[in-house]
Amino acid sequence: MERVHSKEVKAAALKRLKERGVTVEGIAEIVYRMQSPYNEQLTMENCVESIYAVLEKRELQHAILVGVELDRLAEKGELSEPLLSLVKQDEGLFGCDETLALGSVFGYGSIAVTTFGYVDKKKIGLIEKLDTKKGGPIHTFLDDLVASIAASASSRIAHRLRDEEEEGEPPSEVQDPFAG
Ligand code: MG
Repeated sequence: MERVHSKEVKAAALKRLKERGVTVEGIAEIVYRMQSPYNEQLTMENCVESIYAVLEKRELQHAILVGVELDRLAEKGELSEPLLSLVKQDEGLFGCDETLALGSVFGYGSIAVTTFGYVDKKKIGLIEKLDTKKGGPIHTFLDDLVASIAASASSRIAHRLRDEEEEGEPPSEVQDPFAG
């Protein structure tokens, strides 16, 4: 079987997000709310740029494809029972939606993990809107995926800020114990 090209995977993941009503601006608002208290110069453009950067990661693209597919199949009633009911009802103890999304933030470290937990629990911004409502579209996986994109983009901004701050400073006199 022919190998699937990364470009194809990325394009499909972005397309799925758009089809399901997710906008980059909507995610950027969450990122801005999470990071602006620590970064006075932060702009919405910085947040958008960071979101596109984390969407380059395969882990995240794959999680989006899997999660959105399950939401869509549940909407069409094409999952078998009892999984169909679990996904449809967004059953609180189901947890696979959180686990899938959480798995894709590990590459961005502890700030991504804690931010994920926070925005998911508090249902910040777009996540609140996506919450699965009775009779409406099923977003059981999508809300967590949005949280994971926002969390990774937030963590990336936090680490970049420190790098930028230290860039202008004179080099420290720390000795390299491996040198010489
Ligand atoms: Mg969920």
